[in-house]
Amino acid sequence: MLRYTAAPVPAIRILDNHWMGHARSIAAALLESEGHRAIVDPGPGSTLETLRKQLQARGLSVGDLDALLLTHIHLDHAGASGALVRENPQLAVYVHKNGAPHMADPSKLLASAQRLWPNELQQLFGEMLPVPAENLRILEGGETLTLGSGKLEVVYTPGHASHHVSYFDHDESVAFVGDTTGVRIEGHSYVMPATPPPDIDLEIWEHSFTAILERKPARLFLTHFGFSENPAEHVLLFRERLHKWAAMAQESIRSASNEPAAMASFMAATRAEITEHLPAEKVEHYVFNAGLNLSFLGLARYLRKRAAAAS
Ligand SMILES: [Zn+2]
Repeated sequence: MLRYTAAPVPAIRILDNHWMGHARSIAAALLESEGHRAIVDPGPGSTLETLRKQLQARGLSVGDLDALLLTHIHLDHAGASGALVRENPQLAVYVHKNGAPHMADPSKLLASAQRLWPNELQQLFGEMLPVPAENLRILEGGETLTLGSGKLEVVYTPGHASHHVSYFDHDESVAFVGDTTGVRIEGHSYVMPATPPPDIDLEIWEHSFTAILERKPARLFLTHFGFSENPAEHVLLFRERLHKWAAMAQESIRSASNEPAAMASFMAATRAEITEHLPAEKVEHYVFNAGLNLSFLGLARYLRKRAAAAS
């Protein structure tokens, strides 16, 4: 009789948060090894119930989780963390040192989110509770985390956010890259930048692409949404498009008479580009996942900073 030994590596499962009722918008990843469980980016407070149901469907509850591994603190990735810790006070919350203060006290983060989504903040992201300091595990990049018999390498990958990290599971050859390589819905080839304010930096981002590619993962795991099977090609496409979109933002700012007009022109140009690559309903899905208005604001801020530094 042939016998198989269970592979001593964490199994990876996608938990679809069905954000705002949309499938394939925000993916949490459940990692499991020898009875130890972690979630990479649990998602916003607004999808907590869905996350709980997704766990239940696998015979699990929030109390069965050991850790949350945050790629960064944006509300669509990390908003549910405080509520999950309230439910399971044993939960360890891993986060980069520059993001950690905002997990302990989210008031500034929420104030800036309120400016970006003045009318829809609650509906989109729900409540964000603070994470008690004793639950926070501070990362800088370079650490190796243990989950059961599995290991995860933490790599600092700024660019989208100054406090962004990625988690590499070398046994499974998967890199959990959060938003470092943009938005690509599993099964589609189009890769779209997501460049919200306030930290976008294209020069710094280059180092993160290098850090990801030199580790040669077989697959990327994107929060928006799911696995991408060819990291080298994915990153190449994403870099090209990121720089193209920055140039489009610059041109919109140069040719428009004010910032709202520049934003409108950028949004029209990027939407036209996306429409060349995707059917109409998919265009809306991509744009819903990462708003073009936010991408304009993030790039415009980056371009202003760069111009100020050069003068
Ligand atoms: Zn995101």
